[in-house]
Amino acid sequence: MNSSKPLALAAAIALGLSLSACQQAESPQAPAAEESATAAPAADNPFFVVSELPYQMPAFDKIKDEHYAPALERGMSEQRAEIDAIANNAEAPSFENTIVAMEKTGALLNRTAAVFGNLAGAHTNETIQKVQAEFAPKFAAHQDAILLDGKLFARIKALHDQRDSLGLDPESRRLLERYYIDFVRAGANLSDADKETLKGMNAELASLATTFSQNVLKEVNASGVLVDDVAKLDGLPAEAITAAAEAAKAAGKEGQYLIALQNTSGQPPLTNLTNRELRQQIMAASLARGARGNEFDNREIVARVAKLRAERAALLGYDNHADYILEDETAGSVEAVNKLMSDLAPAAVANARREAAEMQAIIDAENGGFQLEAADWAFYAEKVRQQKYAFDESQLRPYFEIDNVLVNGVFHAANQLYGLEFKERTDLPTYHPDVRVWEVFEADGTPLGLFLGDFYARPSKRGGAWMNAYVPQNGLTGSKPVVANHLNIPKPSEGQPTLLTFDEVTTMFHEFGHALHGLFSNVKYPQFSGTSVPRDFVEYPSQVNEMWATYPSVLANYAKHYQTGEPIPQELLDKVMAAEQYGQGHATTEYLAAAMLDQKWHQLTADQVPTDTLAFEAEALKAVGLDYAPVPPRYRSTYFSHIMGGYSAGYYAYLWSEVLDAESVEWFKESGGLKRENGDHFRQTLLSRGGSVDAMQLFRDFRGRDPEVGPLLVRRGLDEPVGSK
Ligand SMILES: [Zn+2]
Repeated sequence: MNSSKPLALAAAIALGLSLSACQQAESPQAPAAEESATAAPAADNPFFVVSELPYQMPAFDKIKDEHYAPALERGMSEQRAEIDAIANNAEAPSFENTIVAMEKTGALLNRTAAVFGNLAGAHTNETIQKVQAEFAPKFAAHQDAILLDGKLFARIKALHDQRDSLGLDPESRRLLERYYIDFVRAGANLSDADKETLKGMNAELASLATTFSQNVLKEVNASGVLVDDVAKLDGLPAEAITAAAEAAKAAGKEGQYLIALQNTSGQPPLTNLTNRELRQQIMAASLARGARGNEFDNREIVARVAKLRAERAALLGYDNHADYILEDETAGSVEAVNKLMSDLAPAAVANARREAAEMQAIIDAENGGFQLEAADWAFYAEKVRQQKYAFDESQLRPYFEIDNVLVNGVFHAANQLYGLEFKERTDLPTYHPDVRVWEVFEADGTPLGLFLGDFYARPSKRGGAWMNAYVPQNGLTGSKPVVANHLNIPKPSEGQPTLLTFDEVTTMFHEFGHALHGLFSNVKYPQFSGTSVPRDFVEYPSQVNEMWATYPSVLANYAKHYQTGEPIPQELLDKVMAAEQYGQGHATTEYLAAAMLDQKWHQLTADQVPTDTLAFEAEALKAVGLDYAPVPPRYRSTYFSHIMGGYSAGYYAYLWSEVLDAESVEWFKESGGLKRENGDHFRQTLLSRGGSVDAMQLFRDFRGRDPEVGPLLVRRGLDEPVGSK
């Protein structure tokens, strides 16, 4: 996912960021060893020509690892030459010879980067990783060279100044404004001296971000809890005990047990450990990370980053960093984000307190003699879950066979809503034998695009699930979309069926929602194609598509026992749904606390940045009523990697998308659910428009009014008055 920015496609992709969606990405797994490819003459480089396969699908059978670097190099130099020609054009600037011309630049670069960027996540190896590391700074410089090109910007600015008299259609006018804004936001309007200052700030921020993330990783490793007596590990599964013994041995403490930490405040072993003292020790170690006064201490870095970002925002003419970031998002302003979160905070904490009361009752019934603390939460939450919502996963999965889910579930819903038909194409080359290709047709038989499904986990694939576009829909060239979904479903042994968990089923519907956003794109300019929308909007259409996974008629069509064909028993399904709902008070509270910290840090002016990082954090949470000790923030400032990296002032985005999602699900239900008329309305007003219209306007066009938070409150169980029960 990415908001629309010039060159965002090429740059984001080259940095190994997937273009669309689902930032649940985990660290890349170890690369698979692959034999090094033999050198091929440049003339054979398949990227140098437009693919002749249907829909210009990449010629995966011809692409070899050694083709990437030359194609990326040549792609950058071609684009640089194209841009120079535009900047130095002797003719007066026109929309056609400047803006449209820029939209047409970089064809080779984009074509190469679309394949390279995605395979860096979906099927990487050492060669690809080397190219990635080599090209990341080259791309940054390439992008800077364009965005800070004074002659080019002078043409864009001249056109922008006369935008009212150019006679542009709405999409073209928006494109001109988009280019102008992106250049200005990158510093194009600054004096040469200020541009130098800005570059210095960017360089220092980049280096601080690297140090911060390295500290976070080192501190996770340095904060593991060492246990000398296996009896203290009572409750942990046997494999976790073995892993702890091996971790201790690797750390030179053979005979002991090392509980490794993960980066969230909560830690998985807390769910199982019966020893309360050990639970407290682990929780304390987790919460102390990055603030222990050792060499990995991040307190000063957090404050320094906040100060630099505030200074940079001021240089660019903004009140603060959040103001700078949010201006370009759907939420639109600091006030809107603050309001959403402050509105939800009291209800979320009240809900968490109700969950805590339920757990305290168990503690009291067991004569525990203590008050529930953060270290106890997961342990007692699991007891409540077992008592109220337990079900056997192995009973469930036979009803979720992968082809049933995909063809009779995901595709079926898309057929009922949009009239789509799917034909599997086994004649087209892929980069891995597990990848499947479908041609997608409209109800009247018109070809729409290609859909690639890459569902299985493998060592060469990063974690998480995501969607990407190999060929984005492009009204200037007439290109139709080629999109792909990637999941990490464990591959069964030969001859065994692939039976999914309920989470995997939901993910499949979710990712296909992104695919639809790409397939339905019907815009003129590639800048606006498909999922090129703000990051607090991009998850919304995919979240909406999840609703069909449990929609009765869809479920009846796909959730059948793979051997007997029996439909899934309703009582089993009810248990699954209830279990999904449990724990929303805790989940919402810890998320909001982190999102609020992100905002508080980034809504400061440079002179307001505190020297005491932890004191600031405590005051910030208290000010909004999120200082409920049993539920600490999902990330504390000193290990909150999202906000030191690309998600600064943007961690709220998941919730914002969910507000729109919950509203839209309500609309579908009110309007008669799964039917063509409803799907066509969603497609016409929103899914086909990409970023060509302001995102909030798209929502209004679809829903008929501004979003309201009510449906989200109901979904997250936050709708009961504070203090009830
Ligand atoms: Zn997503």
